[in-house]
Amino acid sequence: MIIKPDGVKKRIIGEILKRVEGAGLTVKSMRMLQLDRKTAGRFYAVHKERPFYQSLIEFMISGPVVVVALEGVNAITRYRNLIGATDPDKAEEGTIRRQFGESIEVNTVHGSDSAENGILETSFFFSTAELGMIPEE
Ligand code: GDP
Repeated sequence: MIIKPDGVKKRIIGEILKRVEGAGLTVKSMRMLQLDRKTAGRFYAVHKERPFYQSLIEFMISGPVVVVALEGVNAITRYRNLIGATDPDKAEEGTIRRQFGESIEVNTVHGSDSAENGILETSFFFSTAELGMIPEE
């Protein structure tokens, strides 16, 4: 998951992580960073042909983000239920995007949409050592 620049600016990092942990998901690793244009572009490369791509990149580099590696049984489904639909207006009441999101673009959090993408996106930001995947000698 990523807490997007609007979430950091709103000072709700703790609030979001509280809900994520409260839903039974485990934080394996996390880091705050400022994305540059190239890295944000690579991360969202699947959306390159979409009309909102440039705008999305500008938003994602508009301030620091918090990247978080999560673990849990059915983590993707449980996390997506917690954040709600992409468009905050269409997200269910009580979800993170419904409560804090401003628009279909400025929607506070990112989440991987499949287990396969979860692995790709987690390894985009975290090393195996950071994820505790290297066994001790
Ligand atoms: P997600 O998996 O729910 O984050 O949604 P997508 O993978 O479809 O889109 C990635 C991100 O692009 C979203 O979280 C939004 O920040 C942004 N986005 C998606 N659809 C639109 C759109 O129609 N317009 C704009 N401006 N941004 C969008």
